[in-house]
Amino acid sequence: MNKQTAPLLYSLRRSSRAKNTRIVVTANKIEVVAPLKVSEQRIQAFVHAQKDWIDAALKRVAGKVQSAIPRLAPSEYLDGALIPYQGRRLPLKISSGKTKTVRIELLNDEIFWVKSPTEIAGAHLSALIQQALTRWMKNQAKQQVQQLVDLHAPRFALFPRSIRIKTQKSRWGSCGPKNDINMNWLLLLAPPAVLEYVVIHELCHIKHKNHSPAFWQLVGEHLSDFKQHRLWLKQHGASVMQGL
Ligand SMILES: [Zn+2]
Repeated sequence: MNKQTAPLLYSLRRSSRAKNTRIVVTANKIEVVAPLKVSEQRIQAFVHAQKDWIDAALKRVAGKVQSAIPRLAPSEYLDGALIPYQGRRLPLKISSGKTKTVRIELLNDEIFWVKSPTEIAGAHLSALIQQALTRWMKNQAKQQVQQLVDLHAPRFALFPRSIRIKTQKSRWGSCGPKNDINMNWLLLLAPPAVLEYVVIHELCHIKHKNHSPAFWQLVGEHLSDFKQHRLWLKQHGASVMQGL
């Protein structure tokens, strides 16, 4: 499609108090406020004449929204960087030596210990550590989710057909029509009870494929204070979703 002729989507609001036609750009919409007497044709022409300004405003607003979400992850994965894990931030300790790949180990549940090849440093090392940590977390997610399923599934016979760990940008978990459960590994950045809540949430969808009162009651049978974990996700979820 030709960009020049692509229609701009905007909502039009007529106002008896408006003296001129003006454009208001917010995070998810373009609103045009116009006096009662101005014809739609003139409004359209006006909006198209302002296309560059609108594009710039949309970009500016998007940038603001993006930067308003605090990232949990460090800007660089170097010695001393703080790594989000289970609702905490654990320091990264790098020791270089005779290893071919970057390896991650969680020491005493307190420190992420990285063994890295001597010849790698700087931004390259940072990128490799980020990748290795992501692999480590996915693997941990697999184990922890399985443990939580083993703990909760037998209570009300809510057995999933399969469990998969995924990277998802917009959801924490899902339960398919045949009870295949997907879990987002980014939940490892949240407190353990939040991960537990999401596992239970998806297990309860095995019985109730909806969010009815009966569904929430079943969630509550497994985890009486689930509301506070759901609230935590509402408050901090956008930061967690930004990942490592
Ligand atoms: Zn649900």
